[in-house]
Amino acid sequence: MDAHGAHQSYRANYLSLDPTYQDAYGNPLLRMTFDWQPNDIKMNRFMQEKMGAIAKAMGGKAISVSGKQDGSHFDTRSYQTTHLNGGAIMGADPQTSAVNRYLQSWDVHNVFVLGASAFPQGLGYNPTGLVAALAYWSARAIREQYLKQPGALLKA
Ligand SMILES: Cc1cc2nc3c(=O)[nH]c(=O)nc-3n(C[C@H](O)[C@H](O)[C@H](O)COP(=O)(O)OP(=O)(O)OC[C@H]3O[C@@H](n4cnc5c(N)ncnc54)[C@H](O)[C@@H]3O)c2cc1C
Repeated sequence: MDAHGAHQSYRANYLSLDPTYQDAYGNPLLRMTFDWQPNDIKMNRFMQEKMGAIAKAMGGKAISVSGKQDGSHFDTRSYQTTHLNGGAIMGADPQTSAVNRYLQSWDVHNVFVLGASAFPQGLGYNPTGLVAALAYWSARAIREQYLKQPGALLKA
């Protein structure tokens, strides 16, 4: 049995330019600062309890619950889904988002950033369907609006 939880955005979790590590061209690599927040641990513990009870009620013969405990830290060594979202998030306000609802950069109008990078929150559901839907949504805006009149599709 497996369960996915949503992960909201927190100021303590962010991407930045790495002060130490660089690529072959001398550009800083992207650094991810991330750890579980109290709500993540609470959700996880809640689900451990519920799923453990369901497994027992189903007559499971071998039940071993693996989950987070208070004080658990993010650990890349154990698999815990690979649904990483965010980095260039979409939003209504250029002060707090990188791209508008059409995935167009607020700063550079001929840059559209498509992908799970646009998600402002980490949703519990599988992301790929929404990534594809957003790509269609953005492509339609490019074809029907942007190409006819290149420029910002929304006022900053
Ligand atoms: C093991 C695994 C299992 C998964 N299972 C599921 C699942 O069952 N269901 C589901 O919904 N999701 C699943 N996901 C998540 C899903 O794959 C991602 O959410 C989705 O692929 C994100 O799409 P994206 O376009 O944002 O990024 P990506 O698919 O990662 O695409 C980014 C692209 O950018 C390219 N790129 C990177 N840097 C550069 C550069 N500098 N210049 C040019 N190109 C560059 C990369 O090569 C890549 O092709 C899984 C992910 C993994 C890793």
